[in-house]
Amino acid sequence: MSNSPISFFEQVNRNFDKAAALTKHHPTLLNQIRECNSVYHMCFPLRRDDGTIEVIHGWRAEHSHHKLPTKGGIRYALDVNEDEVCALAALMTYKCAIVHVPFGGAKGGVCIDAKNYSVGELERITRRYTFELYRKNFIGPGVDVPAPDFGTGAREMSWIADTYQSLVNNEVDALACVTGKPVPFGGINGRTEATGLGIFFGVREACSISEDMKKLGLSTGIEGKRIVVQGLGNVGYHAAKFFCEAGAILIGVCEREGAIQSSTGINLEELMAHRKATGSIMSFPGTTSLPDSAAGLEIPCDILIPAALENVIHEGNVDRIKAKIIAEGANGPTTSAASEALFKRGVLVIPDAYINAGGVTVSYFEWLKNLSHVRFGRMEKRFEEQAFRRILRAIEESTETNFSQESIDRIARGADEKDLVYSGLEETMCRTYQKIRATALSFDGRADLRTASFVQAIDMIALCYTDMGIFP
Ligand code: NAD
Repeated sequence: MSNSPISFFEQVNRNFDKAAALTKHHPTLLNQIRECNSVYHMCFPLRRDDGTIEVIHGWRAEHSHHKLPTKGGIRYALDVNEDEVCALAALMTYKCAIVHVPFGGAKGGVCIDAKNYSVGELERITRRYTFELYRKNFIGPGVDVPAPDFGTGAREMSWIADTYQSLVNNEVDALACVTGKPVPFGGINGRTEATGLGIFFGVREACSISEDMKKLGLSTGIEGKRIVVQGLGNVGYHAAKFFCEAGAILIGVCEREGAIQSSTGINLEELMAHRKATGSIMSFPGTTSLPDSAAGLEIPCDILIPAALENVIHEGNVDRIKAKIIAEGANGPTTSAASEALFKRGVLVIPDAYINAGGVTVSYFEWLKNLSHVRFGRMEKRFEEQAFRRILRAIEESTETNFSQESIDRIARGADEKDLVYSGLEETMCRTYQKIRATALSFDGRADLRTASFVQAIDMIALCYTDMGIFP
């Protein structure tokens, strides 16, 4: 980890300032966009299972209200603090603007190591945290909509939804107060893997551009690319899975306990089973173990996916990072100084605010589903299927051929919810990459993809403020 004296929020703001300098917006408008609008710090007592009482600290930051609701995950980690939630909330604002998701940015956190608490204790913490948010109007379908992040998942989201529902009594849209819920409880198919899949779609798009790959000394396509992943949690595991399915070779993995590497490739599912059985990735057969987890980031590879923590690529190790492409699965894994050094060296850094936006994109779809009270695909699935059958029959008649029943069933299939979610995510990630790249090119080498994506976000948010008539 970095021991940079610059706070995380300041890192984000440095990136913002660099991009802001390339725009023509009024300085006061830029200031309004940059600041974090509201932060709520709460403390409440928790009775532990052994009868002792502990004081729990939690935060929720709403960075920008230019669009409502605000949106952002909740993390449970020991390094959660006010600066971190403000920084992450700011990143959410820019992320939503970059991928055209109509939300302001927010982030929440509780300062605990979830591993040290029983399920019952975690439920009490989550329900009390939700109650505190409700009391201060920091949660609601049109106000602020949390989601999972580091240390939280569908289970915590269902506790949040249930608590909120019990407080608001008869609010028909109550389930839209949080996303990332289990599917039977208002969740959406495809949300769990959305961030990892979004990373895959975004990197695949980047790797399809031969001009850019040539500069990196790489061929186009994902097949055969050597990847290293830091963090095998929700984001890292799913990203690794989609890359491996597309023919990439997983040559390194870093986790809390250390890192492993193998030039011939690591079988992801066997590694997950090994970790489950032994509690560690270390000593996985056929790999070399590196006791210093961070050293795994320095393994020479084509694509490095840091998907665990912030500030892991910093001035102290950036010269030793040998990846040609870095896809920032985690939020803020690269300090602003390291980012500049990588840009100068010609490393293609695909920034967090874009590349890990798959989660919030699919959260947006879940929120829409909750508000419309209908599953995606329910209305059109059968209609599409019958239309495809009619087309196939017309082809059979005009060509005097007969398709097998198996072919008909395979082709004449209406889209179900997961198909539509994947399709919406793919469209979002691919189209956005091309737009960011075009913006970067328009600055003649002065802007990397991060700066270009911030410029796009700033333009989009500035437009909202001017549309509201607040700024000229
Ligand atoms: P997670 O809790 O599911 O997984 C985190 C993983 O990182 C775990 O496997 C953990 O063991 C590992 N880890 C912890 N400390 C480590 C260390 N020092 N070195 C290496 N690995 C370590 O969390 P997640 O949801 O996958 O989130 C990971 C990152 O991605 C966070 O920065 C989060 O903000 C960001 N993110 C998550 C989502 C999402 O949809 N979950 C969306 C966008 C961004």
